[in-house]
Amino acid sequence: MKLIDALSLKVKLYILFALIISGVLLASIIGYFNMHKMKNNLDALYFGSYVPVSELSQIQNFFNKDISLAFYQLKYGQANPSISAAKIDLSRHKVVSLWSSYKSHFKREYELSYLEYADEQMLASLGYLKRLSAAISQSKQNQISQLSTKSLLKKINNMNNILDTILQYEKDIARYERKMSIQIYKNTLYTLLSVLIFVITSAIIIMVPIFKSIQNNEHNLIHATTKLQVANKKLETASITDALTGLFNRRYFNLVYNRELTRCIREKKPLCFMMLDIDYFKGYNDHYGHLQGDTSLKAVAQTMKSTLKRPGDYLFRLGGEEFGVFIANITEDKAYHMAEQLRQNILALEIKHKGNKVSQYLSVSIGLVNLSPNHATESESILQKADENLYIAKDEGRNRVVSSDMQKKQKHVNNISA
Ligand code: GH3
Ligand code: MG
Ligand code: MG
Repeated sequence: MKLIDALSLKVKLYILFALIISGVLLASIIGYFNMHKMKNNLDALYFGSYVPVSELSQIQNFFNKDISLAFYQLKYGQANPSISAAKIDLSRHKVVSLWSSYKSHFKREYELSYLEYADEQMLASLGYLKRLSAAISQSKQNQISQLSTKSLLKKINNMNNILDTILQYEKDIARYERKMSIQIYKNTLYTLLSVLIFVITSAIIIMVPIFKSIQNNEHNLIHATTKLQVANKKLETASITDALTGLFNRRYFNLVYNRELTRCIREKKPLCFMMLDIDYFKGYNDHYGHLQGDTSLKAVAQTMKSTLKRPGDYLFRLGGEEFGVFIANITEDKAYHMAEQLRQNILALEIKHKGNKVSQYLSVSIGLVNLSPNHATESESILQKADENLYIAKDEGRNRVVSSDMQKKQKHVNNISA
């Protein structure tokens, strides 16, 4: 069992296959030879016993019935001599042919001496019958009574005894042949059963580790697939995530921005885009060091996440200390409220910022743009507008939100030109 366990799955399968094929072959060979033996036995039973027994019984019948009857009918005047002689002759001929057929069958060595004796007796009896029928045919009616019943009976009795002996012997042989056939039949059955048990047991012994191997392989495969899926997911997440802040990166922004914009156009829903920039961040780095700057970037990102956490809110680090927020299906008021909330929450972190000329804490300026996009909307113009608003926010004193609705502005411009 340990040896089988150590073999590879492929080798185990080969062994199993070879075992089943050899089992089937062995069973076929055993079956073929035993069937052949049984056929020989059947032949021996039929030609060696059944046919001889039937021939001997017929001979006995000719002696005991046909010949005796013909003689007695003649004796008691119920038949004339020529007919009786013809009947005896006919029976005699049949006995001759049956006896020669009987003798022609295969005989064993030890049967020959008795057969020789029986043959002599048979020839003597047949000679006697020949002479009897000749005498009957030549006899006159008054001479019939002188024919000896005793000598005919003696001959018939003698032949009966001999035929009984041979019959008994043939029946014994038949019984023996039958016993042999049954023995071969049983042997065949036991052998086939043993082969079957051996093959099934061995197959089970080999199949258990095969199933275990398959189960293990399946388990390993599931494990590897799960690991691969996790790794893929990580890779996928890493490819779209900014390593420092954990927000979506610039690369993913381009993808999401166009996709969500198309969706809002299709579903006729308003959207907003915010561009967010930390105030005087260069000064912050200069004063507190770059590492501390990174920590503050993370803190800002974390606040963005906790403020905007709907599934449709997309938060990006666009680069440096600049962030982007894309929110679909949001009204102008709500968008402004969210931007303002975001600005206040960041300020509420109370991150000391000595270089900030507008607050003692780290603050952000936000450029916000709202619109209900249509097919004429150019994606670049939204970013440009947000950037413009951010610039205005910076220019107007930082730490604030500057918002505009693109359609309204468009309308306004149209009105002016009109
Ligand atoms: P303003 O209020 O006009 O935005 O002033 P500012 O100083 O924030 O703007 P400026 O563009 O001059 O400086 C941005 C600074 O952000 C420059 C750089 O030192 C800093 N910065 C950019 N990326 C990183 C970063 O990954 N980590 C850190 N610590 N600082 C960064
Ligand atoms: Mg800045
Ligand atoms: Mg900047």
